[in-house]
Amino acid sequence: MLNFFFKRNDFLGGVKVREYKELSEHKPLTKAPIPKRVLRPYIQHNLVRIKPTIEVGATVKVGTKIGDPEGRISVPMHASISGKVTKLEDIEHPVLPARAPTCIIESDGVDLWEDYIKERDYSNLSKEELLETIRDAGIVGLGGAAFPTHIKLSPPKDKVIDTVIINGCECEPFITCDHQLMLEKSEEIIEGARIIAKILSVNKVIFAIEDNKPDAIDKMKKALGNSNCYIVAKLKTKYPQGAEKQLIKTLLNRTVPQGGLPFDVGVVVQNVGTTFAIYEACRYRKPLIERVVTVTGNGVKEPKNLWVRIGTPVYEIIEFCGGYTDEPGKLILGGPMTGVAQYTDDIPVLKGTSGIVVFKKSELKKLGSELSPEYDCIRCARCIMACPMQLQPTLLNSYIKKRDFLSAKQNNVLDCIECGCCAYVCPARIKLVHAFVHAKREIKRLNL
Ligand code: SF4
Ligand code: SF4
Repeated sequence: MLNFFFKRNDFLGGVKVREYKELSEHKPLTKAPIPKRVLRPYIQHNLVRIKPTIEVGATVKVGTKIGDPEGRISVPMHASISGKVTKLEDIEHPVLPARAPTCIIESDGVDLWEDYIKERDYSNLSKEELLETIRDAGIVGLGGAAFPTHIKLSPPKDKVIDTVIINGCECEPFITCDHQLMLEKSEEIIEGARIIAKILSVNKVIFAIEDNKPDAIDKMKKALGNSNCYIVAKLKTKYPQGAEKQLIKTLLNRTVPQGGLPFDVGVVVQNVGTTFAIYEACRYRKPLIERVVTVTGNGVKEPKNLWVRIGTPVYEIIEFCGGYTDEPGKLILGGPMTGVAQYTDDIPVLKGTSGIVVFKKSELKKLGSELSPEYDCIRCARCIMACPMQLQPTLLNSYIKKRDFLSAKQNNVLDCIECGCCAYVCPARIKLVHAFVHAKREIKRLNL
C-alpha cells in the first residue's frame, strides 16, 4: 500500500560486480586529524573557475570565504581549517584535465571556526532563502560529480517536479561512506530531504537503497515511521543502479530523454551525503568544509570511513589509516569503476571525493588492472549488452580511433555516463571509457 506512487522496474544493461565492501563496511565514522595544510583548487566542477577572495598572508578561520563563483553554475569556497594562506599557486587538478590555481592554507593547530556557524531556527525560511543558504554554503553533489546543488534544486519554470529521490544506492565497489552515513545520521538525512521537498514543493520522496545494505534500509524505515509520502525503496544490487537515469527508470519506469535531465521527467535526485550537507547548511549555516570518505583497498593497512576536511592531502589520510600494506600499485580518487587513478598521494581530497582506494602492486593483476595489455576487439558484443545507456561502445571506439568525432557524436557518445561497464566486461581489455571521455572533450573543443 505504501508503494502507491512508484512502479518497480529494471534498467537494461549494467553488470554484477564483486563489491569488496567488507573491507570498510560498518566501520564507524571517525574524524581524521586536522591536517597540517590543505590544498584548495579554484576549479570545482566542469572546469568552472572560482575567483580567489583572499591573498597570501591572510589568516582564516574554518568557514572563512576564500573564493567566489565566476558564474551562476558554481558556488563559493570556504577555508576548511584555520591558519594562514601561505601560497596561491598552480597545481595539476587531481580529476580534471587542467592546472588549477590553488589556495594553500597552513594550519594554526587551533581549529577556530567562524562565529556565523551556529544553530538557528530555519523552519520559517522561504524556498528562496533556503536555496540561497545552500548556495552560500558551497554545497555541490557529493556523489562524485560535484555539480552545484542550488542549480539542481532550481528546475526551469516549465518543468513540474513530482518526485524527489534520495540516492543511497552506493553501487560503486569498495565505497561504504554513504552506507555508514545512513546508519549514523538517518534523522538528519530525512530532515535534509524535507528541506529539498519544501524547496521543490514536492510531497513524494523515495529513499533508494540497494538490497546489499539491509541494516541501512531498516534504519531509514524506522526513522521515517509511518509516512505515506516518504518511503524507502529496496533495490536490486546491480551496477550502476545509483546512476540517475537508471535509478529513475527502475523506480518510476520513466525514461529520461537523450540529452535530457531528470527535470524532464519530473524528478530531482540527490545523493544522501549531499542531503546531509543540505541539512547542516540550513540548520547550522555550516559550509561544506568536510565530508565522509572511505579509505580502503588491500593496499591500506586499516580501511576506514572518515570525516575528512576538504583539501586534506591524501598521504596524511593514508598515514592515519596505518600506512600502505605494501608497495602501492594504484591509488584511485573515487571508486574503481568511475574514479580517477593518481600518480602521487600528494593530492587533496575534493568535495566530490567519496573514496580513496589503494591496490597493492602485487594484487593488481587479479583485479583486472588496466596495466595489462590491450588486445584487438573480437566483436563479442559484451560491451553492448552491458551498456546501461544502450550505446554501442565497440562502434564508438572504432570511430574515435579514426578521430571521427562527428560520427561518435552522431552515435550518441555524449550520452555515455562513464560508468565503466563496457570496459569491465571487455575481454580484450580495451580502454573504452578513456576513449569516450577523450571524444567528449574533443567534441566540445572542436565545437562539433
Ligand atoms: S561507459 Fe559509456 S559506453 Fe561504456 S557502458 Fe557506460 S555508458 Fe555505456
Ligand atoms: S567487449 Fe571488447 S572485444 Fe567485445 S565487442 Fe566490445 S570492445 Fe570488442
